[in-house]
Amino acid sequence: MTPGMVDLQWNGVVLYPQGYFSRGVTVAARLALPAGWKYATALDADSPGPDMIAFHPTDLETLVDSPVLAGANAAQVDLDPGGPAPVRLDIFADRPDALVIRADQLAAHRNLVREAYRLFGGRRFDHYDFLMALSDQISPIGLEHARSSEDGVPLRYFSDWEKLAGERDLLPHEFTHSWNGKFRRPADLYTATFETPMRDSLLWVYEGQTQYWGRVLAARAGLITRQQALDLLAQDAAAFDVRAGRRWRPLQDTANEPVIGYKAAKIWPSWQRSADYYAEGALIWLDVDTLIREQTKGQRSLDDFARAFFGPAAGEGPVRTYAFEDLVRALNGVSPYDWAGVLRARLDRFGPDASAPLDGLARGGYRLVYSDSPNDSFRLDEARRRGCDLTYSLGLNVDQHGLVREVAWDSPAYRAGLAPGAILVALNGVAFDADNLKDAVRAGKADGAPPLELIVRTGDTFKIVRIDYHGGLRYPRLERDLAVPARLDDILAPHARRTDAG
Ligand SMILES: [Zn+2]
Repeated sequence: MTPGMVDLQWNGVVLYPQGYFSRGVTVAARLALPAGWKYATALDADSPGPDMIAFHPTDLETLVDSPVLAGANAAQVDLDPGGPAPVRLDIFADRPDALVIRADQLAAHRNLVREAYRLFGGRRFDHYDFLMALSDQISPIGLEHARSSEDGVPLRYFSDWEKLAGERDLLPHEFTHSWNGKFRRPADLYTATFETPMRDSLLWVYEGQTQYWGRVLAARAGLITRQQALDLLAQDAAAFDVRAGRRWRPLQDTANEPVIGYKAAKIWPSWQRSADYYAEGALIWLDVDTLIREQTKGQRSLDDFARAFFGPAAGEGPVRTYAFEDLVRALNGVSPYDWAGVLRARLDRFGPDASAPLDGLARGGYRLVYSDSPNDSFRLDEARRRGCDLTYSLGLNVDQHGLVREVAWDSPAYRAGLAPGAILVALNGVAFDADNLKDAVRAGKADGAPPLELIVRTGDTFKIVRIDYHGGLRYPRLERDLAVPARLDDILAPHARRTDAG
């Protein structure tokens, strides 16, 4: 919380009797907020009194799945006027001027609802609330619920629209979870009580396919352009292309990450790996999607799987669980193939020859290439983080003051002995400057160019480090391969009827 906003997660304040089904425990919650504050939640309440909100009695599972976002500056937007169920964007902001939303921005958020309905068919919720915090003060968050989501984005989400494209798959991601995650849930991830630990073997579906649809729906809705989607995809593909951790750790094992320290910062993420089941999982689902399209000559796609697997049928309960076999059966229902083999090969492979799952890109009609200038997405991301990202050349990511944030395992910087936490004090005898570093890498391509010479401080120790690298600047981008149908373009194109931006 901040002085102007609170994101109330009931699990942080609730006491409950141990050993009962969460869904069988009834709770009547009441909440007092500062005078003049507005609130939003998926919970129902009688018209609120002046200082105490009395929510309708509900079960503990629903309560914990229904946080309250409240604050002094608020606005509510109807995202599906005349639709089958109310879908609202409940916006809370550090400052009232941040609440202003342009017509084209509103249209894109409304398109998201249409595209999601088109993708999944039916829906589980009777109403849905995006609990959106526009804040640079409250902790950023993205957290899914059945009838709402906590969507923490930068204060300037609307006013810096052009710069913040990378933030705009958050709402599509969390909305997708209403189907993939909250309704269809891996069996080992569903527990009847909160004190029973969950298990995570299928997070590459729960999160991986949600990550995939989050990006795809963002593009289909017009929240991001096709080029922005391609640029973001290039960044993910490149990150896994150089991930040395695949030599010892299969993607499946990263599904254990929430258990063994997902929140803890990694010193060597390229070697240790992290919650890779999100973005690498998404690359696997692109692989599957394009395989289905290839096999069926464009007649079927992962859209058909999503509708069949995540779309609820009439009369079903709030949660339907599944196992790996159910997933394979549903894929075979779309297009018969050795799906178990396809998935297990990509999930379990590791070792010196294990490559990143980039076949979906190739089958989608694109190839990952490196050029000497960054794409817009990369450039904006680098500028926002106020630093210099030379991951794909020197293998080095530093901030504007020369503090080394990350060194890619086995990269030229790594082999020269650099490690995260070191400070680059000087480059070729001159005080460190990020632009000079880029110039020096560019100049290092010339015949007979000397190695870069850095003065590096670690703690109280100074040393001279020479990086003998002559490959020039390298940044990832996707290049169209005209020999292959542009399946990826088809995937990203609008599917539902778009609302007018005017
Ligand atoms: Zn998620």
